Amino acid sequence: MADFYSLLATNEKLSQDVLRPGADQIDQSRRFPRENMVALGKGGVLGLLVPVQYGGAGAGLAEMSSALVVQSQACASTAMVTLMHFCATAVIAAKAGDSLKQRLLSAMARGEHVSTLAFSEAGSGGHFYAPVSEIRANGAQKKLSANKSLVTSAGEADSYVVSARRPAAAGPTESSLYLVPKGANGLATQGRFEGLGLAGNASAPMTLTDVALDDDSRLGPEGSGFESMLQVVLPHFQIGVASVSIGIANAAFQTIAARVGARKYEHAGGAALASIPRVQFLVAEMALELNSARAYLAETIRKALAGDPTAMLDVLGVKARAADACLNVVSRAMTLGGGWAFGRRGGLERNFRDAQAAAVMAPVSDVLKEFIGKACLGLPLF
Ligand SMILES: Cc1cc2nc3c(=O)[nH]c(=O)nc-3n(C[C@H](O)[C@H](O)[C@H](O)COP(=O)(O)OP(=O)(O)OC[C@H]3O[C@@H](n4cnc5c(N)ncnc54)[C@H](O)[C@@H]3O)c2cc1C
Repeated sequence: MADFYSLLATNEKLSQDVLRPGADQIDQSRRFPRENMVALGKGGVLGLLVPVQYGGAGAGLAEMSSALVVQSQACASTAMVTLMHFCATAVIAAKAGDSLKQRLLSAMARGEHVSTLAFSEAGSGGHFYAPVSEIRANGAQKKLSANKSLVTSAGEADSYVVSARRPAAAGPTESSLYLVPKGANGLATQGRFEGLGLAGNASAPMTLTDVALDDDSRLGPEGSGFESMLQVVLPHFQIGVASVSIGIANAAFQTIAARVGARKYEHAGGAALASIPRVQFLVAEMALELNSARAYLAETIRKALAGDPTAMLDVLGVKARAADACLNVVSRAMTLGGGWAFGRRGGLERNFRDAQAAAVMAPVSDVLKEFIGKACLGLPLF
């Protein structure tokens, strides 16, 4: 396996040569970006977070974030599929038993296995940490029935990290995580993804009907799911979604910066839109918003890697901050793009639709802000 610096270079090249040229077609046809995932797998990028002993690059949050910013500038649907795969990789690497790790992580390092998270449930919505489904135990036999509301890569992934309440749980935070392979009896994808944005990421509801769970597929001890979600999944997911938001915003910013220079007015002697002071002011505001979100992301990663005790608040905040920044930058870019952008030229309208997802992906921005408010006021988070 290549070191992660060369993998990031490969990621950049694939983003430019493969992801970007196909992004509009994937969006318009609403199809899963299979060819992109194959290319990223062959290039080793899907093994970025796999520990070195299983053939991966052993990279962490900083490299994951860099890879996702670059991918999402090119094709946000692909970046979101990759992010969910990275989150699943991280929790498998941290919590799976030895034989599961050996089997899955080496396949992930070879780019032959794509995984994802199936956490959100219709019964708890944006409160991702609180599954309502419960594992039923009958002696050593365990079964799960659950309605998962939206799962990225539904029906396309090779495995699903599924959350549910442990058997006889006293409350929603007494949960467990299990790995359910594709093709498991009782696992089904419900319908086709018709979402506003990220049209290629195959997010669809999934149902589990009496799916048999075995102890070898459990990620961590029974009842440790909530802890794994907070300690492992949350930092990867939050920092990953923030990175995707920044990549989308950056793509829109670059497009509009070029567009206002190229848009010329005959009636004003050929002056460009960029020559109008109000336009310069708006572009400056976009740049500052983007830069502050980027800086907050870098600071959050630094604190998380350093084990700073206050990092959790930033891990919660950074997704909401980057989502807001992205929405602001992309909306502004749409306005400055005028009829050209409204007419779906330049990719801005795709950025605009893709930008909407982060705020409603659990933990949704409003719930995150509730957590931050509670923390600032010294109130318990849960
Ligand atoms: C593109 C996409 C991909 C996804 N991929 C996955 C995936 O791979 N795996 C997975 O598990 N899930 C995934 N999801 C699901 C996602 O996490 C859910 O959309 C999320 O759980 C929100 O659920 P909901 O729509 O039921 O929100 P609801 O709970 O109905 O909330 C709706 C809105 O109500 C408001 N609200 C709710 N609670 C509060 C509160 N406490 N305080 C203030 N306001 C509140 C917020 O504005 C919130 O946006 C994906 C979603 C999208 C859009």
